[in-house]
Amino acid sequence: MNEESLIEDDDVLLIDDELPSTLTDEEERESYLGKDDSHSFLTPCLSEAKLKPRIKKNTGIQAGEDIYEIKNEFESLNYEIVQNNIREDELRRHNKTSSTTKELERWLICFFIGALTGAIGVIITVSIEALSGLKQKWLNNLFHPTSAEDHVNSFVPVLVWCWLDTSFVLISGAMCAFIAPVAAGSGIPQIKCFLNGVRFPKVIRLKTLIVKVIGIVLAVSGGLVCGKEGPMVHAGAVLAGGISQGNSLTLGLQSSVFEHFRDDHEKRDFVAAGAAAGVSAAFGAPVGGVLFALEEAASFWNQPLTWRIFFCSMTSFMSLNYGLSAVKTDLQFGNFSAVGLLNFGKFDNSMWYYYELPLFAVMGVIGGLLGACFVQLNKIITINRIHLRPSRLAKTLETGCVALLSTCAYIVMLYINPYCRDETQNGPTDAAISMKEFQHLRMNCGPHQYNTMSLLSFGTPETAVKSMFHEPYDFFHSTTLLIFLPIYWLLACCTYGISVPSGLFVPALLCGATWGRLVHILMATLVGVDKISDPSVYALVGAAAGLAGTVRMTLSLCVIIIEATGNLTLALPITAVLITSKAVGDLFNEGIYDTHIHLWGVPILEWEPPPNSELIKATGVMSKPVVGFRSVETVRNLYSELASQNHQHNGFPVTDANYGNYQGLVLRTHILLILKNRLFYDPSRPADLLSLTELRSAYPRYFTVEETGIQEADMDKLVDLRPYVNKSVHMLTVESTLESIFRLFRALGLRHAVVVDKKLRPIGMVTRKDIARFRAEHEAVHRIPIDEF
Ligand code: ATP
Repeated sequence: MNEESLIEDDDVLLIDDELPSTLTDEEERESYLGKDDSHSFLTPCLSEAKLKPRIKKNTGIQAGEDIYEIKNEFESLNYEIVQNNIREDELRRHNKTSSTTKELERWLICFFIGALTGAIGVIITVSIEALSGLKQKWLNNLFHPTSAEDHVNSFVPVLVWCWLDTSFVLISGAMCAFIAPVAAGSGIPQIKCFLNGVRFPKVIRLKTLIVKVIGIVLAVSGGLVCGKEGPMVHAGAVLAGGISQGNSLTLGLQSSVFEHFRDDHEKRDFVAAGAAAGVSAAFGAPVGGVLFALEEAASFWNQPLTWRIFFCSMTSFMSLNYGLSAVKTDLQFGNFSAVGLLNFGKFDNSMWYYYELPLFAVMGVIGGLLGACFVQLNKIITINRIHLRPSRLAKTLETGCVALLSTCAYIVMLYINPYCRDETQNGPTDAAISMKEFQHLRMNCGPHQYNTMSLLSFGTPETAVKSMFHEPYDFFHSTTLLIFLPIYWLLACCTYGISVPSGLFVPALLCGATWGRLVHILMATLVGVDKISDPSVYALVGAAAGLAGTVRMTLSLCVIIIEATGNLTLALPITAVLITSKAVGDLFNEGIYDTHIHLWGVPILEWEPPPNSELIKATGVMSKPVVGFRSVETVRNLYSELASQNHQHNGFPVTDANYGNYQGLVLRTHILLILKNRLFYDPSRPADLLSLTELRSAYPRYFTVEETGIQEADMDKLVDLRPYVNKSVHMLTVESTLESIFRLFRALGLRHAVVVDKKLRPIGMVTRKDIARFRAEHEAVHRIPIDEF
């Protein structure tokens, strides 16, 4: 069965019902709505109306397997500015000074977001270094006591190591599972969803931030295969959401500061700035931060916003560097050599030969293939995880098991790695990993020697990445790398998705750098070490390929890596490898973040419209009949619709009372506020209206219709919705194609669009969930084997 026949099959998809031009308007309307529904708009009995299923549902495929189920619990954000009479009145009262003040406030907020994100970065780095340092020192003393009296059974340090790691991670896991489940993972997919226009419950909360910060310190110190960089993006976004709103639910803080920024549209801009600040602090890449925000949220970009985000990103970079130089004893105050949380070290003298470029492209292919395998395996683990850990306790215990498994794996790797180096030989030479700082382990090596594996499995992941980049050619034996790579790769795969804050950047970089060095060893054996570039270049190219193959970002990643290395000579191989790696990975599956987003059932709008969307008309995706109200409506109708459990819609078309013409859209939240304030319509006196401040007062958490306090006696009163109606809405006709609808939603961040007939009467409603669901189910149709039909 080919694609075309699927589209024409009315049993599968209800698409463009071409109508003969001889039909009258009423007949045409009936053909879209059905006879019974043709006049039912505005009547309360609509509450019980069932939406007509548009797409064949019974595909025989379970959610989370081949078809992604779009969950109704995810609500959209209202990125469209509500242009109602109330806003117009306020704008008229505005003068130039108030606009300038507002703009200055935006810059001020961006400054605070940047400064605090940098400060959080300092806190995380210093805490991890302190905790890991203590742990390493203690274990080192246990493994290698200085005097014979201190000698302990070699089983004791192993037990202590396992106990320490498991306890750290269990605390982190318990905090996540019981206090803020949304703090688990890197937070990047959640922020991506937010910027795309989906409200992710509790993601922008102070409580989430606190759990994230403490959790990531414990997870990294507890030796989990994760990095602290991804969570910085989330931390920046939470700070942005909190500072820009001037209140905090966690602290019970309610103030009127910055109250004019209390809407989704303004908040999104700040969250984008916060995410950029997080990337900037994580990698010391202010421009990379801006591009990250651009890549994830390009639909709302404009020049002033770019400047503000760059300013925020730069502030975060400066704040982190000042902070680190102030607290680190080996840095002079104001010395910016700390750069970011993840320091790639100096690549000043690294260069490459032109004939290596094809080899780098091949490395890109390897990165793409490994990345695709990683995503696929992690997806299988994630799906099974959902069934295997039903309770919070089970989630917490799982984190402990993964920590124990990781620590056991490190110990085994140390014991089976036979390669040692003398302490006097060249070793961790780069400034930040001096031998004094790094507590290496001797294990099965002789006196005054250390086990080279200890650099990879005993230090923090950042130390390991740096040693991969900068240790000399003969430092790591290929056997050491071959032992480390598969074990670490599998551990990374199991770790991403457990209930602890954890970033994926560092594990992906480390795996890539490891096989990059292996490629270097292979090439050196084949053609001679002097004919190829340094191992640092190969490690870097491998790291870039590994990361791009897993997360599939290209533009921002490229700039982040170039900024982190500080060497433009490497820009071409990095770009080549990133493009190849992403292209190869995309042949098999989506990036890890998108995969998780789809597994959660988030109605995210992708970059491109769904396949064949040019052939599908609005009638093929819209919901009907529409639930809406007259411009002056009875409290009874309003109340019953809002209370109806059948469709808890957030936007309702408002029509002219006489002709049923579409006037605009009113939000559920505004109706709730009108009812709560008992602003009933009385034609004999001037109406009391809510101010813009009052409309924003309950943002972002509103009450239910039952909490409005409406009594039976109020039911026959009237409410005038006209002043609250968004008049500047986007309408669709029955001929609008899904492709144009998609682009409208994607570019403008729309939440609702009403389909109207020729007489401007609403006949259907399209929301982002309709588009997302269409894609999910349509793609599933294509994935079903032919004999299933
Ligand atoms: P949000 O995305 O914030 O939850 P919403 O609740 O208004 O917005 P959805 O949850 O996306 O809307 O809607 C679920 C389904 O209900 C969709 O198929 C949508 O087309 C339909 N729908 C939404 N609003 C209306 C309405 N006023 N009348 C009829 N159907 C609607």
